[in-house]
Amino acid sequence: MKVFKFGGASVKDATGVRNMAGILGKTTDRPLLVVVSAMGKTTNALERLLSLALDKASTDEAFDRLQAFHMQTVSELFPDPQHRVYSGLNSLFAGLKQALAGLIDGDYDAHYDTIVPYGELISSCIVYHFLLQHGMVVTLIDAREFIHTDAHYRAANVDWEKTASACSLLESETYRKGIILTQGFIGRSANGHTTSLGREGSDFTAAIFAYCLNASEVVIWKDVPGLLNADPKRFARAVKLDQISYTEAIELAYYGATVIHPKTIKPLQNKNIVLKVQSFLQPESAPTLITAEPDFDPLIPSIIVKDEQVLISISPRDFSFMNEANLHVLFGILDALHISVNVMQTSAISLSLCVDRNDEKLALLLRALQEKFKLRYNTGLSLLTLRHYSQALIDELSQGQEVLLEQRSRITTQLVMRKQPSDQ
Ligand code: ASP
Ligand code: MG
Repeated sequence: MKVFKFGGASVKDATGVRNMAGILGKTTDRPLLVVVSAMGKTTNALERLLSLALDKASTDEAFDRLQAFHMQTVSELFPDPQHRVYSGLNSLFAGLKQALAGLIDGDYDAHYDTIVPYGELISSCIVYHFLLQHGMVVTLIDAREFIHTDAHYRAANVDWEKTASACSLLESETYRKGIILTQGFIGRSANGHTTSLGREGSDFTAAIFAYCLNASEVVIWKDVPGLLNADPKRFARAVKLDQISYTEAIELAYYGATVIHPKTIKPLQNKNIVLKVQSFLQPESAPTLITAEPDFDPLIPSIIVKDEQVLISISPRDFSFMNEANLHVLFGILDALHISVNVMQTSAISLSLCVDRNDEKLALLLRALQEKFKLRYNTGLSLLTLRHYSQALIDELSQGQEVLLEQRSRITTQLVMRKQPSDQ
């Protein structure tokens, strides 16, 4: 079995949905499991709706805009106003409206997982009816009945055993000859609540199904020709990587390359399932292949930039060294606050941490540390990571920048930098 994943950009409008159906029509592999994301920027729109609702502001306008955006696509795809897709969508939007109205104070992350998954439920409903209309053999399954997770809302952890056993149902004769369509990004916890796997989590969904079903390959269809060595919006000379190893892909995702959700690779690597990243705009062109093979061309450096970074430097108030006991306390706090560290460096008396900017968490961290530690921080920084770097490339990319921290291994260089020096 193969697993295809179509992200939001691939189904952002009627043309996208038709194009997707075209790609599915050209592949003869059946059964084929297809994972879809929310359409276009729907997830962002749902996040905004959630904020409005929690701020007790009116959600009417934003809700209508989101509904109109989907209805535009649907009216282009289904000219018959009696088509069943309309009643399906009406009940989903009614459910969303009710859920927004029913939010009461409480855990933000749990509310998030009540609201935001509607994006995937809506898109899969539209795609399902379109594929049916196209004459395809397709079954729509609810991902929540297969992807079992814990209740860590917004970043749910998969219960692999339960998920694998649920997925075995999909190996039955019923599904053999057709497409199994499902939603990315969402699952369900044992208490029955919908959960989500984190932003861009649909890639991970594809990997979970592939792992549980022993798929031969996963194809992630994107609006870029494959995995690139840099963000083409930032670096005009970005090139496609033809083939890289799982390990290299994990490293790239870890350092912040946004093409694949970081959790996607490991399950595929464990079962040696080939991952392809392919263009839905040029489906005939060669994808990036991610396999167990060692990198065939390590000479292509990868450039990853993360903006909105904060460099925190922490030292003990009692002038003790930054020893293991102090580090133990610090990392306990970071873990409790779910702050992940992008780079760190220790010296005798201080620890420097580069983290993504999140003012709320930073305030909590300051509060938690102030009794025992002194803390200084700089904002407005960027973190540059170079894999397979050369000195010439480092020089070029750090030109005109003040480097606040630098770390180098044989393969990776990381620089925390800012444009103009200023005192803070
Ligand atoms: N719709 C979710 C997001 O935009 C999940 C995904 O697209 O992978 O983050
Ligand atoms: Mg997406």
